Amino acid sequence: MKKPVYLDYAATTPVDPSVAEEMIKYLTPDGIFGNPASRTHAFGWQAEAAVETARRQVASLVHADPREIVWTSGATEADNLAIKGVVAGRTGVHVVTSSIEHKAVLDTCKWLEQHGVEVTWLAPDREGRIRAGQVLEALRENTVLVSLMLVNNELGCINEIAEIGRLLREHGVLFHVDAAQAAGKMPVDVSRMPVDLMALSGHKVYGPKGVGALYVRRSPDVRIEAQIHGGGHERGMRSGTLPTHQIVGMGKAFLLAQDGLEAEMAELENLRETFMSGIEGLSGVTVNGSQDCRVPGILNLSFDGVDAESLMLGLRDLAVSSGSACASATIEPSYVLRGIGLSDEQAHRALRFSFGRFTTKEEVAFASSQIVDVVSRLRAVR
Ligand SMILES: *Cc1c(COP(=O)(O)O)cnc(C)c1O
Repeated sequence: MKKPVYLDYAATTPVDPSVAEEMIKYLTPDGIFGNPASRTHAFGWQAEAAVETARRQVASLVHADPREIVWTSGATEADNLAIKGVVAGRTGVHVVTSSIEHKAVLDTCKWLEQHGVEVTWLAPDREGRIRAGQVLEALRENTVLVSLMLVNNELGCINEIAEIGRLLREHGVLFHVDAAQAAGKMPVDVSRMPVDLMALSGHKVYGPKGVGALYVRRSPDVRIEAQIHGGGHERGMRSGTLPTHQIVGMGKAFLLAQDGLEAEMAELENLRETFMSGIEGLSGVTVNGSQDCRVPGILNLSFDGVDAESLMLGLRDLAVSSGSACASATIEPSYVLRGIGLSDEQAHRALRFSFGRFTTKEEVAFASSQIVDVVSRLRAVR
């Protein structure tokens, strides 16, 4: 069977070959396989040096200080650590988030709610964005944390994080931002964006799965309680032997992302235009989420009169997603699309196409012609 064209880069990306090449050097007996926490011999020192290089590379992409980077197993763990780490041990506190966050944030906040924390769930506008004014209105005396995503994984829309951050800084409320879909897709700069905590993932940026990081601001100093206890690694914030090969991979991937950011954004914009012009002839297509404030690689489209399940069946040669990957095992309409005001019916007609580094113009042209064919055919037999 011919492999389908991969248009699901927002779910995960392949590891860049040069990243894989780097990672293998940190696994085998002839490589640097030591425990980075081993202080008594060169095996440990070399591994530690590699971890610290990667820490600088990850920090550099988001303009952070390397000492502000805490390694985790992914953005899910980073989100958990940020949110639970701020709230832990405090009673009578209030947290603000939105109804279209990634499950890693949603479910963490739901769990807090079940344990007595008050949570305000902000509703985004039709474009998928949360506005600074809404956040301000939601603040209470006892608000300790606001958690919002920089880029939405289903829609690709960008929140006004800098504005919201400035406002929260004035009010002395901590701000956690899930930037898993933003890093490597747009400029992210914590020196200009007053956020206190920020979750990052390796595998959305051509690094390996199973590694991520939490940015924890040092100035002003942000304190969080560890959620995983053990050897006191990562300045006590996250214990566990560091996976050197994963970390080296994430570092290299973030370095590549930084070097190629502008060119890659321009290339993805081109692919998006090729794709959109390929389906121009098709009527009844709606772009879900913001049209102008978005990252170039993610495109969420609704097709009038065609449900996404049938469309995906017809589009066997394309690997795309309806809703988020985590929700695709269920036939529930996407809570993100429902969250921006689409009806169940409209939400059931949406597919997410996401492009990336290895997507070619030919693949995109093929995808759009397939879509035109299948949508037209499905509409004809209605
Ligand atoms: C993928 C993703 C996550 C989860 O990241 P993992 O590293 O897979 O745990 C969290 N938030 C957003 C917005 C994502 O896209």
